[in-house]
Amino acid sequence: MNGLCATVVDYPSEGIVFKDLTPVFADGAALKEVVDAIVEKFAGTFDAVAGVEARGFLLAAAAAYATGTGVITIRKAGKLPREVYAQNYSLEYGEATLELHQDDVPAGTRVLILDDVLATGGTLGAAAALLERTGAHVAGIGVVLEIDALPGRANLAAHNVVSLLHV
Ligand code: IMP
Repeated sequence: MNGLCATVVDYPSEGIVFKDLTPVFADGAALKEVVDAIVEKFAGTFDAVAGVEARGFLLAAAAAYATGTGVITIRKAGKLPREVYAQNYSLEYGEATLELHQDDVPAGTRVLILDDVLATGGTLGAAAALLERTGAHVAGIGVVLEIDALPGRANLAAHNVVSLLHV
């Protein structure tokens, strides 16, 4: 699966080296390998899987289906129709807001959060904060790829973070 990860220089802006995992998602064997590996690392520790829009949805849906659990959608601002919690955060390249329906997660639910890439940790930190505001417990955080030069892991020190690949 490592060889399927593409590198795009100066995307989405100059100076950024973007790791593109869409070839991993497009390859049946690689997608299965990724999802199985994440599920195995957190086996028995979660009741639901949260995905961060948009690529996290792909992983979360597959992991939830594989384990007979449900999917929780953590979305960009303005996409969810009912009452939300909103969390602002800083990105490697900008500012953003994530939202979660206030009543999508019963209190006490153990939630595994998934996304494709861990960079600064701002996105996954905001996702974890949103889930905790609902009374959920963050069982862990799983990503396919971690950018080791950025402080994502340090910024998520309160959580069990599993990355399948490192650059
Ligand atoms: P962070 O909040 O800085 O950790 O950035 C992680 C978020 O931005 C995730 O939702 C990723 O999908 C996206 N992201 C950041 N850097 C990359 C990258 O190099 N490739 C793909 N997605 C990235």
